[in-house]
Amino acid sequence: MADTALMPIPGTFDPVPTPREVTPRADGRVDLLGLPRPRITELFEAAGLDKKAAKLRAKQVFHWLYHRGVTDFEAMTDIAKTMRPWLAERFVIGRPEIVLAQHSSDGTRKWLLRTDDGHEYEMVFIPDADRGTLCVSSQVGCTLNCRFCHTGTMRLVRNLTPGEIVGQVMLARDALGEWPKGAMDGLDEDEDEGGYSSDGRLLTNIVMMGMGEPLYNFENVRDALKLVMDGDGLALSKRRITLSTSGVVPMMARCGEEIGVNLAVSLHAVSKEVRDEIVPINRKYGLEELLQACADYPGASNARRITFEYVMLKDKNDSDEDARELVRLIKRYKLPAKVNLIPFNPWPGAIYECSSEERVRRFSDIVFEAGISAPVRTPRGRDIDAACGQLKTAAQKLSRAELDRLAEEKQAALG
Ligand code: SAH
Ligand code: SF4
Repeated sequence: MADTALMPIPGTFDPVPTPREVTPRADGRVDLLGLPRPRITELFEAAGLDKKAAKLRAKQVFHWLYHRGVTDFEAMTDIAKTMRPWLAERFVIGRPEIVLAQHSSDGTRKWLLRTDDGHEYEMVFIPDADRGTLCVSSQVGCTLNCRFCHTGTMRLVRNLTPGEIVGQVMLARDALGEWPKGAMDGLDEDEDEGGYSSDGRLLTNIVMMGMGEPLYNFENVRDALKLVMDGDGLALSKRRITLSTSGVVPMMARCGEEIGVNLAVSLHAVSKEVRDEIVPINRKYGLEELLQACADYPGASNARRITFEYVMLKDKNDSDEDARELVRLIKRYKLPAKVNLIPFNPWPGAIYECSSEERVRRFSDIVFEAGISAPVRTPRGRDIDAACGQLKTAAQKLSRAELDRLAEEKQAALG
């Protein structure tokens, strides 16, 4: 067992400490999953290879590990036969443990995963006609307590390591059978001739919209996404990756500079009063600061718009005036933006209801008529609790006190 003690929620806004980078294993071997090339080189050197050999082997292993999805050193055919057992004695290439795999009637798939130290988290795959999106978690639970989000009611939180984050994408490729299968006789071969092509792939997009606030686990999310974007790694374009934040303003510029992926912002309200209530981080970083950080987001342009997510809550944030104010704000800050309207996905104990279909349509029309794209997101995987904001592992059942609190709130909200 690794000593990553369970973290009680440390307060409403504080980032969560990170467990150690290399999780010690009972057999003494080191899991390479999630490590970058220079770190693998260092470990090979520390295990006894000279500098040059360590560098070459690290380059080869990196390619097999992240580009080919190989977990067995014996299959690394360009590494000398005698070298392979040497590696296998000292290292492993792991995967997150799958506790449960579920299939929704609409094709959505959800996996419940477990870390080495026993924390559970989830990932979701959403197939569409023209794309397949993997919804990746960044934390076990979330510290932020957005009022409408089930994940926010989880009591235990810890940051996921780069291996646990990139491991989700790798597991999805395993499950979908999407690793390039070409013959491998040297590192110089043209990968695309080996049967690997981006056409017709099931997994085409990644969204950091699973459990957790990715910008409260910035370094690990960045390091994992770098492996995903590395041409000799998982080789997915940054244009196909979107990171969603509830509004951790001080980290947004770094996200653009150091990761460079598309940004989605969970706006959900256009007044201080309502946003303070439903997205409590707003009390720390207000709307003006947030929208200014969006205007300054590196890489945002009309070709790469910022997505504003807006959950539709009945009689809370869904009026015509709200829609008009949303348009006004976007124009005032000259934001290259699109709006994604998300029908609220209910969960047991939630104090909100979803706006009526008609209301959602009207809201969408007002924004659209102002020249801003405002599609309504179709809820996916609701039958297996895989839809937005429904992720919460079975191990995290509500405590008695939480149930009481929610019941009281519900009562109060109903008047
Ligand atoms: N923590 C990040 C990313 C994860 S949440 C964030 O908040 O942006 C992904 C999206 O689902 C967010 O926009 C979130 O606000 C939304 N969401 C949460 N709970 C929801 C619910 N019950 N119904 C619909 N959307 C929800
Ligand atoms: Fe956390 Fe995002 Fe849920 Fe808010 S909406 S509690 S930030 S996961």
